[in-house]
Amino acid sequence: MTIIPVSLGDRSYDVRIENGALDRAGDLLAPWLSRGRAVIITDQNVASAQMSRLSAALAGLTIETVILEPGEATKSWAQIEALTDLLLTLEVERGDHVIALGGGVIGDLVGFAAAILKRGCGFVQIPTTLLAQVDSSVGGKTAINSKAGKNLIGAFHQPSFVLIDPTVLDTLPRRQLAAGYAEVVKYGLIADFAFYEWCEANAAALLAGDPEARAYAIEKSVAAKAAIVGEDERETSGRRALLNLGHTFGHALEADKGFSDALLHGEAVAAGMALAFRFSASRGLCPSQDAVRLTHHLQAIGLPHDAASAGVTASGAALVAHMMHDKKMAAGTLAFILARGIGQSYVDKSVALADVAAFLDGER
Ligand code: NAD
Ligand code: ZN
Repeated sequence: MTIIPVSLGDRSYDVRIENGALDRAGDLLAPWLSRGRAVIITDQNVASAQMSRLSAALAGLTIETVILEPGEATKSWAQIEALTDLLLTLEVERGDHVIALGGGVIGDLVGFAAAILKRGCGFVQIPTTLLAQVDSSVGGKTAINSKAGKNLIGAFHQPSFVLIDPTVLDTLPRRQLAAGYAEVVKYGLIADFAFYEWCEANAAALLAGDPEARAYAIEKSVAAKAAIVGEDERETSGRRALLNLGHTFGHALEADKGFSDALLHGEAVAAGMALAFRFSASRGLCPSQDAVRLTHHLQAIGLPHDAASAGVTASGAALVAHMMHDKKMAAGTLAFILARGIGQSYVDKSVALADVAAFLDGER
């Protein structure tokens, strides 16, 4: 069992990582369950796979369960309206906590609902995908999608507690697990060469369900994210922007695929990180053997490592056009996360988009 505090100025909350924690949720969540009641919001897949464990653990309490459709389309205005109406009907008060049991879709939606319900009620995250455990459940970014794009409507609203039980990953499809792994290896690539080496040596075991490898990867990832978020809660100093390694290239690939299941977010990030490293190498910033090494690692575990393996054939200009629509574009320039080597990523605001387009065309 490991507890990682996320410290934000005068506030902090704990992320608890423990195999089997879901079965002890009655005790572990007790501080946040008021009035003998638990309001749980989840999706259909998670409800069938894991809800019985949580219900058993909360026996004796009145359990209100809201089960939503799985998938990105659930992060919508329509769902926020329906969910907040329902929470009001259930008389959820500002001092109450609701429980988000699910992947990043449920966490983002419930977090945003909690941010605006009665000007902010509490919420607890029980993330059930690897991506949500290592990334979206920690840090307080909540959002829904709108016609103009993904995650454009949202709020910073920190959970009061994050309960991570790696054993819930037993029921997660392998493809989702591998996509989440891209965000794990990202932390090594940003600032931790030793963890990158651990990832290379242990990725296969992790993806095969090895409990120790899984728990270690989650702990290292959460600690890395907690440190960055603690320094830069609202992405103002630039430090938090490092978490976007692979995301500008990846966003272009996702956009080309229409943000569909044809290319999962983590898969796009995997290809995007390899592109960022090869682009860095092409500019002489990073040793080319580091870019090759990363490319081979992603290839070995079956993750996309370039546009073609992500199923994208668009031109460099078309991909750059997608990047320019990304929310990370500030004052007409794109901040790229580039690398001086594995474990040495940095924010570069001097990249000419024409160079990026030429690089992408050169890869085709
Ligand atoms: P997801 O929530 O859609 O989950 C993926 C699939 O796995 C779904 O079909 C879900 O029903 C199923 N599932 C979840 N847990 C399961 C389990 N234990 N067993 C069986 N099936 C299970 O996707 P995700 O990858 O977790 O999250 C993606 C979302 O996260 C995106 O909307 C993205 O924008 C958001 N995100 C947010 C942040 C943030 O900081 N807030 C960071 C990264 C991503
Ligand atoms: Zn991501």
